[in-house]
Amino acid sequence: MSRVCAVFGGSRGIGKAVATRFAEDGHKIAVISRNKESVDRTIHELADGGLKGPHLGLSCDVSDEKGVQATVKSVQDTLGPIDILVNAAGVNKDALLLKTPTVDMTSLLQTNLVGPMLTCRTVVRSMVQRRTGSIINVGSIVGVKGNPGQCVYSASKAGLQGFTKSLAKEVASRGVRVNLIVPGFIDTDMTSGVSEAMVRQSVPLQRLGTPEEVATAVRFLAYSPYITGTVLVVDGGMQLNT
Ligand code: NDP
Repeated sequence: MSRVCAVFGGSRGIGKAVATRFAEDGHKIAVISRNKESVDRTIHELADGGLKGPHLGLSCDVSDEKGVQATVKSVQDTLGPIDILVNAAGVNKDALLLKTPTVDMTSLLQTNLVGPMLTCRTVVRSMVQRRTGSIINVGSIVGVKGNPGQCVYSASKAGLQGFTKSLAKEVASRGVRVNLIVPGFIDTDMTSGVSEAMVRQSVPLQRLGTPEEVATAVRFLAYSPYITGTVLVVDGGMQLNT
């Protein structure tokens, strides 16, 4: 059965791999991020790969409430009600807390934490009415374990974990599931500064994960009707380290 999947942060990295995986499953995909050129490139790549859709590419800043509302409406008007929502939009800016300006704290929290709250609040209404739907938020192992230089990023992802579990409890009786994926070091633009030595030291499996490996886990959660409020770690064993 073809479903409608909206992937915020679907133009690059993990979100793009998720969008591609769901398109391969025959679903209709909305790829959403700020940069329209990058969104369009991903939509073209889906078509070039024979994954013709219909798919939809939209530009939206996830931290902009009105933009999120307009974007969700466009997806629903064009593709139909959203069955699967993936929140992969996220940013990182490493700095020790003592060197982090307030404006950077606010902007990171707006994107990584308030953003998913806005998309979930906008989409979940129709999911509850239809008594079906699956939401997958993308957290981080840093939100679980903490990391020096990543206080604000870690707080945003730990917050997302609490948000995910609470929303899962709010909507479970209406047949809507909400889960969190927790990646470790994944090979995307976000980890371009991570050295091989750092990977060897911190990842028991001794390599970066691929976006496709995260997408496989997202897909598992999307299709698992008895799983909600769970935290699925995809980190090559990083959580085992002290
Ligand atoms: P990338 O930088 O490769 O991709 C980020 C995506 O989010 C892009 O599509 C980007 O598009 C979009 N995005 C960023 N800011 C916004 C915004 N304000 N509004 C809408 N879209 C936005 O990152 P990854 O794929 O690596 O990361 C995806 C998620 O996974 C993030 O939440 C990240 O925190 C998390 N994560 C990543 C890990 C890793 O090792 N890579 C590890 C743990 C978690 P555009 O710039 O066009 O808006």
